[in-house]
Amino acid sequence: YHAKSRGDHALRWESSLDKHVASRMTLEQDLRQAIGSEQLYLHYQPQLDSHGELQGVEALLRWQHPELGMISPAQFIPLAEETGLIFRLGRFVLEEACAQMVRWQDAGLHMPRMAVNLSARQLTSGYENEVFGVLESQKLSPTRLEVEVTETLLIQDMEGGLAVLGALRELGVRVALDDFGQGYSSLSYLSSLPLDVLKVDRSFVMKMDAVAGSDGGIRCPNQQAIQLVGAVISLGHSLGHEIVAEGVETDVQFEELKRLGCDTYQGYLLARPMSAEAILERFSVNA
Ligand code: C2E
Ligand code: MG
Ligand code: MG
Ligand code: MG
Repeated sequence: YHAKSRGDHALRWESSLDKHVASRMTLEQDLRQAIGSEQLYLHYQPQLDSHGELQGVEALLRWQHPELGMISPAQFIPLAEETGLIFRLGRFVLEEACAQMVRWQDAGLHMPRMAVNLSARQLTSGYENEVFGVLESQKLSPTRLEVEVTETLLIQDMEGGLAVLGALRELGVRVALDDFGQGYSSLSYLSSLPLDVLKVDRSFVMKMDAVAGSDGGIRCPNQQAIQLVGAVISLGHSLGHEIVAEGVETDVQFEELKRLGCDTYQGYLLARPMSAEAILERFSVNA
């Protein structure tokens, strides 16, 4: 589009939908080419226990587009799902994440666990064999891997997805329910899922110390929100799940979550997603 050379009218006529469609197609081509290039890489966000001990990291995909700069996975993952690129992308993430575990090991850092996000579309029958193949080729124990799935994604294809998750768990891979509280799970549905970990969604954690007053900046404990998170933690524990709190940003959130018996913590307060080298620097015993 050369909008500048045209009049105002033409500019308006070029509806945002046309532009949207055009940019989506370009973006899809760009993403296709980005797979296997240095544009796509992983960052890792630490997960710590209440004593600050490293429990593992979550692999988070990054796309440094040559012209558009950083593009959020919240934008390009849905595109990858719609176009089927998610299969190659997901394979890359799994291979790279597992290879990184070995690289850290060789550099003297023992990383207890690697969590990888999965799209529902990846959970097609037999997917467990792909996972096992990658683990085997890296000589990595399945118990060192965790997969994160969201409840909305599971609902779309209950049977196929659940069977894959069950097979993964049988191999020893841990299964985490991501963003818990965002979806629509009923309690009976939740108890029927083959899970090891419940990740309490950031929106719940955020409300634990909502901003008080109109001038902002003052954060104080919100007892109702704290009780709700407490109930979620109790529920998860009663189902035998480990609880991970997402998006821990403030001391109040951290302290209240500890008081409520949360097991594992992830968020900017503790550590941001960072490069593999930065993980090594921060968590090596000799660092
Ligand atoms: P998620 O799996 O729920 O990952 C957590 C997101 O919250 C990450 O955003 C992380 O950077 C961000 N985050 C962590 N701590 C904090 C905090 O304290 N405050 C705030 N405001 N944010 C925090 P990111 O990296 O932009 O990823 C967004 C979503 O994209 C992920 O949400 C996940 O659903 C998806 N995603 C990322 N990588 C992959 C991947 O390799 N495969 C698939 N299928 N999805 C991925
Ligand atoms: Mg996740
Ligand atoms: Mg999450
Ligand atoms: Mg999330």
